Amino acid sequence: MSNDTKNNGNTNATSPAPVSNFLRAIIDNDQTAGKYARDGMPTVITRFPPEPNGYLHIGHAKSICLNFGLARDYAGRCHLRFDDTNPEKEDQEYVDTIMDSVKWLGFDWNNNGVEHLHYASDYFDRLYEIAEYLIGAGLAYVDSQSAADMATNRGDFSRPGVNSPFRDRAPAESLDLLRRMKAGEFKDGEHILRAKIDMASPNMNLRDPAIYRIRHAHHHRTGDNWCIYPMYDYTHPLSDAIENITHSICTLEFQDHRPFYDWIIERAAEGGFFKKPVPQQYEFARLNLTYVVTSKRKLRQLVEQNIVNGWDDPRMPTIVGIRRRGYTPESLQLFCERIGVTRSDGWIDYSTLEGCLREDLDPKAPRATAVLRPLKLIIDNFPESENIACTAPIHPHHPELGNREFTIGKELWIEQEDFMEEPVKGYFRLFPGNKVRLRYGYVVECTGCDKDENGNVIAVHCNYFADSKSGTEGSANYKVKGNLHWVNAADALEAEVRLYDRLFTDANPDAGGKDFMTLLNPNALEVVRAYVEPGLATITPDTRLQFERHGYFVADRVDSVVGKPVFNRVTTLKDSWGK
Ligand code: ATP
Ligand code: MG
Repeated sequence: MSNDTKNNGNTNATSPAPVSNFLRAIIDNDQTAGKYARDGMPTVITRFPPEPNGYLHIGHAKSICLNFGLARDYAGRCHLRFDDTNPEKEDQEYVDTIMDSVKWLGFDWNNNGVEHLHYASDYFDRLYEIAEYLIGAGLAYVDSQSAADMATNRGDFSRPGVNSPFRDRAPAESLDLLRRMKAGEFKDGEHILRAKIDMASPNMNLRDPAIYRIRHAHHHRTGDNWCIYPMYDYTHPLSDAIENITHSICTLEFQDHRPFYDWIIERAAEGGFFKKPVPQQYEFARLNLTYVVTSKRKLRQLVEQNIVNGWDDPRMPTIVGIRRRGYTPESLQLFCERIGVTRSDGWIDYSTLEGCLREDLDPKAPRATAVLRPLKLIIDNFPESENIACTAPIHPHHPELGNREFTIGKELWIEQEDFMEEPVKGYFRLFPGNKVRLRYGYVVECTGCDKDENGNVIAVHCNYFADSKSGTEGSANYKVKGNLHWVNAADALEAEVRLYDRLFTDANPDAGGKDFMTLLNPNALEVVRAYVEPGLATITPDTRLQFERHGYFVADRVDSVVGKPVFNRVTTLKDSWGK
């Protein structure tokens, strides 16, 4: 294959070497055939066409990485186009968050200094002009049937449709009606403009599909200029053609719409609106990810019923949620590359996404210590009120990043699970009589514990060996199995830590007629008061790190403030789900 991988500035995304797929094969063929060799234009122009009616989710990330990734790899360009033809459901809020999400993922619609940010609503005049042309050419008519009659006469999969009594109305009459529809003379639903194709077609989408409807609604961009709006199936192909898109890539459910996609572009091209070659539609399988739902409607339900705290709740599979959770753009790009592009539906396991995050963060995330479920450890023979300096590497494989500083003193915080009064077999952490190393500190020997009146352990006691400090010669004389993390009660910083898990208990929460609302994981969020090492007092929101033993975390971009950090767990260190 001709694998032109020049970076043309359409993106600042770093990507691994592209893996071939059926779309790349198609593009390679088109390039060999010179299909889209047009003066001064890239031979690959793709677009990402969201409707601004909600927040983007992980499925959209697949489409974004695919469209922008192909443009990058073939020195082409990718447009961001808002398919904004449903004024009642759309809003500027969604436009803003979608732009933000695309940029955050590492892509840009600015190509060599030109902004390729488009709105279908910018084409309303041209789309209307084409509609008038179609009427004149006998390819469209105004239908005045009631909605109920229109539905009955459309037929179904086993029954052909019946022609509307208005189908053969004179073009001049249709034109007059369309103009009066546009002028606001009619109420919603009184008339509709339809393409004149074939009411008996086995493809329902070709049974004279509606192309313009009356909607007396305010549009977030065109205001009250229009009271007729073009249908999605009409707008989408023509917008592609207006923008000189070459490969129009969408999900498989649009396969049945392709004949109309081709029909409308061909007819408009015959009318002189477009030059050949025209865009071609290709379909790929949508992303289905286990343990999440990826439908704007269902996600909206979670938000509106307060199951989660907004669209950017870290449990949400929205891009804003995944971002707040702590995922990196690089990990999402890696994920999209890894899952590939095919034409067959399947499920991708959620752990694949987590694996990509670990792969991205392991080499670069600074290490730190956090004690999530604290228990007091008292070193009885430690000098009173003395705090001795300790250091640990910021990253075990990157000494050039330097060290972090903290102290050890008489009273420490350790994890509750690191002490057992009566150890089970194979337990080598703290129990009376056992020695362990306090990581980057000293070796201690456990002597016992204090309990409250209910028998709960409230403090553990030990003695330390003053010559065992990590990094000193004496340390080599101590061989112990346990190596515990801890923080000094005298200098540790208290922090809120949010432990996130799968939002659903079922791998396919909305498959096979299941009610996803009954399959919520009640433990998807656990909040703990933790102690973290003192250096984290300066951590800024959005900074990611690895808490040793606990996983990858991020300082929450909304609630974390310098000096009072709040951490989200992105994922644990190993995949332990369901094991
Ligand atoms: P939803 O079904 O969640 O409402 P949508 O398809 O209506 O999503 P659009 O804004 O129309 O949302 O989608 C923009 C683009 O993203 C479309 O090209 C669509 O095919 C693609 N897309 C949507 N969901 C997925 C998915 N799960 N996997 C891959 N691509 C997707
Ligand atoms: Mg859609």
